[in-house]
Amino acid sequence: MGKKSKSSVPAEEHLILPRHPARVPGGAPIVDTHTHLISTFTAYRSKYKAGNHTTVFDFVREVYRGHGVDAIVDVYCEAPEHETWKEIADSALTEEDRKEKWGGLEYWFVMGVHPHEAKNYTDEVERTILEAMSHPRCVGWGEMGLDYHYDNSPREIQQEVFIRQVKHAVRLGKPLTIHTREAEEDSERILKEHVPRDHRIHIHCYTDSPEWAARMLDHFPSLYIGITGVITYSTNLNTSEVIRRMGALSDKNPSAPLRIILETDAPFMTPSNIYSSLKDCKGRLPLSHSAMIPWTAEWTANVANERIGEPRWDTERVMRESRENARKMYGV
Ligand SMILES: [Zn+2]
Repeated sequence: MGKKSKSSVPAEEHLILPRHPARVPGGAPIVDTHTHLISTFTAYRSKYKAGNHTTVFDFVREVYRGHGVDAIVDVYCEAPEHETWKEIADSALTEEDRKEKWGGLEYWFVMGVHPHEAKNYTDEVERTILEAMSHPRCVGWGEMGLDYHYDNSPREIQQEVFIRQVKHAVRLGKPLTIHTREAEEDSERILKEHVPRDHRIHIHCYTDSPEWAARMLDHFPSLYIGITGVITYSTNLNTSEVIRRMGALSDKNPSAPLRIILETDAPFMTPSNIYSSLKDCKGRLPLSHSAMIPWTAEWTANVANERIGEPRWDTERVMRESRENARKMYGV
């Protein structure tokens, strides 16, 4: 046996997905409200060294083709920030370039410093973010927040850097992309103290308690819960419970929406239900990408229906709702 058999990475062709069975031509498009494009492409190149796609643009055009991806919100959150941000953002300035380089999708981005990286936040990093905020393709500040699960930066520094970023974003009127994990009390205090109620907030890749979600949704009318493939994982029960409760509300009041936006957080969080659609795929895919959103939508719809008599949600409706919410949240 050669060396190759040791790795269980499925063949590259499995990254090119079939159409999700519930989708119809002309149906709701995909909007991925949180994706890390450079990390995704880097993961792809490292797992598929002889891979077909040699640039970020090739990857996006060829892997997303035919899936109706309308728009993506790319996320920069390192300190220092990845230096190619401007080149990539500039490549989406004209419709012609968006067509030619991006296969017609609307490329947008947000920038901030992740709580893991808070200890590396400097004035210079902040200057880069402030410069990015005036770029025409920039739609928000983040991801930023608190992460007490990993504690990769000391908590005092995480809080200080979070507050500093929030203040700038609020002053500039920029929507907030929030990463919070096991830091409910402090995240809530900081947001309620420094952010006006009607400010737009995306709690990305939601994994915290349903009670916290309810309190935040109640306080901030323009807050959306970000749903990734993590909702399909048996290790995480919180996200499903948040959706079950929203579904139950929509049963009492049929016009009550799901206050969610769909995202991948690619290259992480591949939805676990995708494998039923992949023929002869051995092993787990090493990365996720925006065309996987319908599988997350399908799971979300099923969970939203669990506490109501008559099913109200399906893949298409969840995607439509999320598309509308993405517009309200980021203007995309
Ligand atoms: Zn992220």
